[in-house]
Amino acid sequence: MPVAPSIPKTLTIAGVDPSGGAGVLADVKAMSALGAYACAVVAALTAQSTRGVAGVQPVDAAFVARQIDTLLADVPADAVKIGMLGNRPVTETVGERLRHWKPPHVVLDPVMIAKSGDALLERDAIGALREALLPVVTMITPNLPEAGVLLEQRPAENVKEMRRMAEKLREQLAYDGQRWVYLKGGHLPGDAAIDLVHDGDRMIELVAPRIDTPHTHGTGCTLSAALAALLPRLNDTPEAARRAKDYLTEAIRQSDRLKVGSGHGPVHH
Ligand code: PLP
Repeated sequence: MPVAPSIPKTLTIAGVDPSGGAGVLADVKAMSALGAYACAVVAALTAQSTRGVAGVQPVDAAFVARQIDTLLADVPADAVKIGMLGNRPVTETVGERLRHWKPPHVVLDPVMIAKSGDALLERDAIGALREALLPVVTMITPNLPEAGVLLEQRPAENVKEMRRMAEKLREQLAYDGQRWVYLKGGHLPGDAAIDLVHDGDRMIELVAPRIDTPHTHGTGCTLSAALAALLPRLNDTPEAARRAKDYLTEAIRQSDRLKVGSGHGPVHH
């Protein structure tokens, strides 16, 4: 009898969005839909709806460490996705604990500002993100404004400039082993949503049609969670990236059916 493939165990370390559109709730939906088992460590709380973020409540960094250590000692994760961390102490702590536990895949979505314009990462945490987190990640998934902050330059305005940004971001990651940049080009104008996937050698362009909808809340969370679910199973990063983008494109396409809230609604898993 053929042996069923084992189910990857994935962990999201991110913030809570009570509306379920972004943060750990979105991550758990995407991971589950893609056949992974999902665990969640809460790194920040938000008061939030589809209309925007009304407040952010940090979680004590030592307690974030306790959540990670307690869980990973019992349930080793095949892949970890990092989302909203909120502040510098939590960012440093997550970097330190992952350096200790060494999960095989670490996907970092460098969440900084919500689509509503609200800040989700304190400014003084950006240095910690570079110094404490980039050395432990195997993939980083910034959008163009986030890439601009990380590189201290204005965001790319065309695909040629995006390629250069992807190369420079790859230089910020550790050199040993397989490390990838997944640069999201959704902020570029045009009929297509173009992303670049780059490992310092290959530069893969992923193209999807732009879907005209205001309901794109949680798209970044969904993509990085999908990658964490797919990477351990496929062990082929370009293929995992293609499938994650397809999953997100379909989730955006279905978002108008949801009718959740009166603001920027979530995508549909
Ligand atoms: N809230 C939380 C807790 C998040 O992790 C994120 C993720 O990026 C957001 C809000 C922002 O979502 P969006 O920018 O898609 O609205």
